[in-house]
Amino acid sequence: MLLPLSTWLPQAPLERLNLDWLTDAGIEVAILRLDLIDPLISGNKWFKLVEHLKTADRVGAEGIISLGGAHSNHLHALAAAGKRFGFSTVGLLRGHPQETPTVKDLQAFGMELHWLGYAGYRARHAAAFWQPWHTRYPTLHPVPEGGGGLPGALGCLPLRAAVCAQLQGLGWSDYDGWWLACGTGTTLAGLVLAEAGDHPVYGALAVPDDHGVAQQVERIVQEAGVVDAVYELIAASRGGFAKVDPLLLDFIEKTGQASGIPLEPLYTGKALMAFEQQVAAGKFARGSRLIFVHTGGLQGRRGFSPQV
Ligand SMILES: *Cc1c(COP(=O)(O)O)cnc(C)c1O
Repeated sequence: MLLPLSTWLPQAPLERLNLDWLTDAGIEVAILRLDLIDPLISGNKWFKLVEHLKTADRVGAEGIISLGGAHSNHLHALAAAGKRFGFSTVGLLRGHPQETPTVKDLQAFGMELHWLGYAGYRARHAAAFWQPWHTRYPTLHPVPEGGGGLPGALGCLPLRAAVCAQLQGLGWSDYDGWWLACGTGTTLAGLVLAEAGDHPVYGALAVPDDHGVAQQVERIVQEAGVVDAVYELIAASRGGFAKVDPLLLDFIEKTGQASGIPLEPLYTGKALMAFEQQVAAGKFARGSRLIFVHTGGLQGRRGFSPQV
């Protein structure tokens, strides 16, 4: 694929997050804006893809085949990267053909789409799943759903250095922990590996408790051989993945007005709202300094609110 991976080093700004409830609690938050790394390749998905792309490069693949839903931020970042860097992409989609804004982008970026239905998509973890796709696309490298696993986590290691390099600009000498949204827990696992116990990582679960996020994080931590894994998972799905309620939408709207930070309802909105609840419950002492990771996902919210 001959990717210019070393020439594109995305810069995520670290900014102060000013909100009344933080000021009142005496807590400082800096937000790492992964949503701003690129106009098209947004959020944590790029970082989760990098190591997979390097492997594809190494084995001489001509492109990537991966899976996701009709609003998938992962497929969106992958298709945009394919268009930008000139490698081919194939997306295997959950369910039956639909025209979401995400799907239209995937097509515009040149991704070849196959709709698997629901049963077909559920079979994605079966041993024989990839065989026919490998036969059909022998030159494409398969990437698991969402760019997960140890390679996905390793791609997120540089986020710690990105924060450390910008602390001084905020007048901070250190921070007390990370707060971010979790879907599979891959991004959180990457931060846990990068920290190796130096600072705790708090993950707000955008999926129900029974999705096996803890097991997935443990597996990555063990595979990486890291002993000091300091993290905590906090329930934040508000009734289920992609479930949206008026309080959440109101919180997102008010936060946007007060801080200028755009959030979406699936991950970042729920994560910051869960943080507010924990702050209100006194989880963090006055004077605490936290890094909130804006994991992106704003492209996906077009499917949810018509005015965006
Ligand atoms: C995918 C995604 C997440 C979850 O990342 P994981 O590494 O799967 O935990 C969080 N936020 C946004 C915006 C995402 O698109």
